[in-house]
Amino acid sequence: MQTKDTLYIGGEWVAPSTSNAIEVISPTTEEVIARVPEAAEGDVDRAVEAAKAALAGPYPALSGAERAEYLRKLSLAIQARSQELADVITAEMGCPSSWSLMGQVFSSTMVLDGWADLAETFAFEELRPGALGPVLVRKEPVGVSAGIIPWNVPLFIVALKLGAALAAGSPMILKPSPETPLDGYLLGEILDEIELPKGMVSILPAGREVGEYIVRHPGVDKVGFTGSTAAGRKVGAICGEMLKRCTLELGGKSAAIILEDADLASAIPMLMPSALMNNGEACIAQSRILAPRSRYADVVEAVAEAVKGHTVGDPADPSVAVGPLVAERQRDRVLGYIEKGKAEGATLTVGGGRPAGLERGWFVEPTLFVDVDNHMTIAQEEIFGPVLSVIGYDRPEDAVRIANDSDYGLSGSVWTTDVEAGIDVARQVRTGTYGINAFGTLDMRNPFGGFKASGVGRELGPEGLSAYLETKSIVLPGDYTPPA
Ligand code: NAD
Repeated sequence: MQTKDTLYIGGEWVAPSTSNAIEVISPTTEEVIARVPEAAEGDVDRAVEAAKAALAGPYPALSGAERAEYLRKLSLAIQARSQELADVITAEMGCPSSWSLMGQVFSSTMVLDGWADLAETFAFEELRPGALGPVLVRKEPVGVSAGIIPWNVPLFIVALKLGAALAAGSPMILKPSPETPLDGYLLGEILDEIELPKGMVSILPAGREVGEYIVRHPGVDKVGFTGSTAAGRKVGAICGEMLKRCTLELGGKSAAIILEDADLASAIPMLMPSALMNNGEACIAQSRILAPRSRYADVVEAVAEAVKGHTVGDPADPSVAVGPLVAERQRDRVLGYIEKGKAEGATLTVGGGRPAGLERGWFVEPTLFVDVDNHMTIAQEEIFGPVLSVIGYDRPEDAVRIANDSDYGLSGSVWTTDVEAGIDVARQVRTGTYGINAFGTLDMRNPFGGFKASGVGRELGPEGLSAYLETKSIVLPGDYTPPA
């Protein structure tokens, strides 16, 4: 069992302000695998002071190219410890190791590389023509920022937020979830290795009360939040009241539309990873599969075969495709949705319970419901587990209507041999990221975020960088000419 007795505050490993502790429980064995300090309000205060000092220090004044160098070093240092990070994330939250290295770790370094490229090329200062004379438009660091991180893809979400903050020159206080504090300890070591100026990053694992204290802290100027829509509403309300900058990346209930002409033999295997990746604990999971009634039976058969092909078990075993869910409450929640699906009249076709032979660990069988009506609870609410629904539709316009009949709008995809018909569908679906014959995952260099209850604002790309910048217009004398 690992025990930690320090927190990473302002670039130093320091004793925590209280004896509060987090026990990390293995989702696979249900045993305590680590004990780490839980950050408290006093630790947040210290982190904010360190961040304020860093804001006045050398890092925010660096050029974009100089900040990019730190981002590249961070990416390389993570790559050098990628297996260790992947193993830790699998141990703390249960995603299969067959997915962890790429989905949790290399994807994070790809995000950081994208931020580095953008920091190098972004126009942080631009001379523009104005009404009376030239105007110097500057993009300055937003101030002290906070990154509130969920447990499902902990390092990846850190890369999205910390990468943006470091590219913008803004110090960041990270708050990992209490379920997944361990990868943050490796990140702290890596930040030391790359000699990031002190104060730029603090890492404070804690629960929602301390999360809310960070959000309310008068010294925090910007909140980047990823998590549930319920918590996002609270965070957004506090930020609105205090006029803080805020980005909210929230839940999803995305639809994969299979058009009549789709080649099922290639589409279903490509769609499956998005539906069941990370044990189905993915905000962009395509958990609603919309099938034309003319091919409904074929789609159900192909999806059922694919779902049955997912082996459940110890996530450290490389042959396993679905590991345990993160916590007992999450397992119970998912099983509750399965019961609701049955009670509301959907037909359970694959799975539906705890897998045989796995008495310990929070496992749920990969599960498929068919004959699902889009108004059923399992089609409307985010389950966040390995549970899929196939919903029939008559015409393509009905598929678009069903896809849009959701509180959420995060991701989605369409599967067709006619790419133009796919683009036509994509234009009509109200969602932030979309894929045509590719699951609607995010592109590391382009904006990602949600419509409707899936969020506010965007991460990645210039839009995501701008969310960590303030804009200042400096009106210059009419006869101003820049120095040669
Ligand atoms: P959660 O909302 O319970 O917690 C997320 C984080 O917010 C945790 O660090 C938690 O401690 C903190 N938190 C909770 N309430 C808070 C509050 N009132 N003030 C401040 N901090 C608070 O979510 P979770 O269960 O950790 O993660 C799963 C959810 O995250 C799912 O809904 C999923 O769709 C969503 N998610 C969204 C994206 C995205 O990019 N849109 C990515 C990953 C996960």
